[in-house]
Amino acid sequence: MNQSTHNTPEQVCILGATGSIGTNTLDVIRRHPDKYQVFALTAHRNIEQLKLQCEEYQPLYAVLPDAELAQELQAFVEYKKLNVEVLHGVDSLDFVASHERVDTVMAAIVGAAGLLPTLAAAKAGKKVLLANKEALVMSGAIFIDAVKNHGATLLPIDSEHNAIFQCLPEHFVEQGIEHCGIHNIVLTGSGGPFLKKDLAEFATITPDEACAHPNWVMGRKISVDSATMMNKGLELIEACWLFDVEPQQIEVVLHPQSIIHSMVRYNDGSVLAQMGNPDMRTPIAHAMAFPERISAGVAPLDFMEISQLTFDRPSKERYPCLALAGEAMKQGGNSPARLNAANEVAVQAFLDEKIGFTQIADLIQQTLTSTEYAEALTLDAVLAADKDARDFAQQLVEQMASYH
Ligand code: NAD
Ligand code: MG
Repeated sequence: MNQSTHNTPEQVCILGATGSIGTNTLDVIRRHPDKYQVFALTAHRNIEQLKLQCEEYQPLYAVLPDAELAQELQAFVEYKKLNVEVLHGVDSLDFVASHERVDTVMAAIVGAAGLLPTLAAAKAGKKVLLANKEALVMSGAIFIDAVKNHGATLLPIDSEHNAIFQCLPEHFVEQGIEHCGIHNIVLTGSGGPFLKKDLAEFATITPDEACAHPNWVMGRKISVDSATMMNKGLELIEACWLFDVEPQQIEVVLHPQSIIHSMVRYNDGSVLAQMGNPDMRTPIAHAMAFPERISAGVAPLDFMEISQLTFDRPSKERYPCLALAGEAMKQGGNSPARLNAANEVAVQAFLDEKIGFTQIADLIQQTLTSTEYAEALTLDAVLAADKDARDFAQQLVEQMASYH
């Protein structure tokens, strides 16, 4: 890995720079210009935001998958006389993520589209800051092997996994979690906006209602995932791979205040929790500076203002997606990739108002049970499972949409 010294700022590539995680990452970088320099920014369609980011951070590269949008950005950088090289196409994502001058890659593209560039970063031995949980859910062992075999460093950005990482002893990566005296991991989740909503009203939930998360401001896909608690299901799978544990070693607990971001129970009765205001700049700053601590712009936690922390059990009736994810992980093989693909299709269809909220879980379940168990030992097998499940789920959307 390209190690930077104290005198030369770390070179950072942000995949998905215009999203919620991307902009929070840039906010942390803005506070520490001596430590971090933006090497590359990538975006999908939000060109106006990318223009502003190019102007402020002057990266060496800016990448857009679409050629026409890239042309528009090119005209802008020429007009502004910015020293930014504009690239387009998906291969350009891999190019910047694995560039020899890059030290750190923030993997913050949403969904399966982030898998290949994130893998490219791991294979190039980078420090990979993983927000894109879907990539790990899809490719599990393949991704972890790539990290190990190429000397990459993997640090979790998802607030829960970052919390667990902070509550584990530092030697867990080398020695394995079974040598750390751990009883289990407690994965907390707020329960989303429908924690108390009458189940009879679930069928008429609108996309805007589902995206109105009580504690976090996030992209629309992960917001819907939080409302169904598929997000917690994906996080359960993510935690199994990141910390090398089985699903039964993880307990999901509802904690509506989102102050405790997750916990580790030790055999001696101790429970370590990581707490903080719900602001993604905390895990981002933690992972960027690890093992140092830097300021993130987050207000100190005021216990008098919180006054109480509460906990509950998630119910299967309210959150069927959580159980589906647990089953997919226990089943293994290509099931997590199929689960993720079906969920991405279902969430997009819900956001497009083609299917109702409760049909998200139905669609995923039908996709999962539509085929026999199959292994996913290669990247090609993962991508094939993703495509197959996506096609199947899309057909279900068309059927459901006709009577929705
Ligand atoms: P977002 O929708 O706000 O941003 C997504 C980013 O990905 C944008 O920059 C977009 O341009 C880019 N993108 C989208 N589709 C793309 C494609 N096909 N090709 C290339 N780029 C594409 O999402 P977000 O909330 O920032 O979430 C990003 C990832 O981080 C997700 O995997 C999410 O699960 C994870 N995450 C987010 C949060 C949060 O608080 N927002 C917390 C934990 C984990
Ligand atoms: Mg999370």
